[in-house]
Amino acid sequence: MKTVLITGASRGIGEAIARKFASGGYNVVINYVSSQQKAENLADELTRNGVRAVAIRADVGDPVQAKLLVKQTLEIFGYIDVLVNNAGTALTKLLIDTKTSEIENLLLTNLLGTIYVTKEALPSMISRQYGKIVNVSSMWGVAGGSMETVYSASKGGIIAFTKAVAREVGYSNINVNCVCPGVILTDMTKNITIDDMKELENETALGRIGTPQDVASVVYFLASDEASYMTASVVGVDGGII
Ligand code: NAP
Repeated sequence: MKTVLITGASRGIGEAIARKFASGGYNVVINYVSSQQKAENLADELTRNGVRAVAIRADVGDPVQAKLLVKQTLEIFGYIDVLVNNAGTALTKLLIDTKTSEIENLLLTNLLGTIYVTKEALPSMISRQYGKIVNVSSMWGVAGGSMETVYSASKGGIIAFTKAVAREVGYSNINVNCVCPGVILTDMTKNITIDDMKELENETALGRIGTPQDVASVVYFLASDEASYMTASVVGVDGGII
């Protein structure tokens, strides 16, 4: 049975990714930082449906906790076939109004969190000569978004990191790719006004806002052996918005 470790899987896109992998028969590690009840309920539900699922609290932006997250996962399941670096947080304001602490916290969670968890997960993947890593970036990491400068920088960093790690570990049979979602209906986008949402919807080629499941199925494909000749790829899941 394969094992997937998903950061930030208590809700939103991460939750959908957890459900998708569980339906594919994977053991699932659901990482969260504050939504303990949600993460544990999800783990219970997935377990009742026939796979092994555990919820593990860790702030991915803390290198000590990131290390423990991977250590605990390996102690429970023995190996990690798939790592999905999904945990993330948003910040919508002008750069000139952004506090230094806000800049640091966002980069810690989104960019350094991805780097820390990947660094910890790689040794066991390298020794098994097998692994799939999928990082969750954003369309703003490609295009850059006004009022989203620090967020865009963090997501652009994830794209560069994805390409670089892919080149470093490809000979160990480890694929590293990333997805760039567009506007997806989750807690992260719930404060967008109805009018702004309508405008964003109109900017997509498909004429609709994305769902967490839209992202989960692409992540699942990238983590599968069907995508074994894909690495260092940056895949848009944005309904054709950019
Ligand atoms: P969400 O609904 O706000 O969920 C965020 C998830 O990340 C939660 O599970 C949260 O855990 C976890 N998290 C936050 N900080 C963490 C930390 N320091 N350590 C561990 N876990 C942490 O967001 P979402 O929309 O599903 O976003 C998921 C990913 O997709 C993010 O990387 C986001 O940037 C990216 N994305 C989203 C959109 C969109 O339109 N929604 C578009 C492009 C990219 P708790 O529940 O415990 O707080």
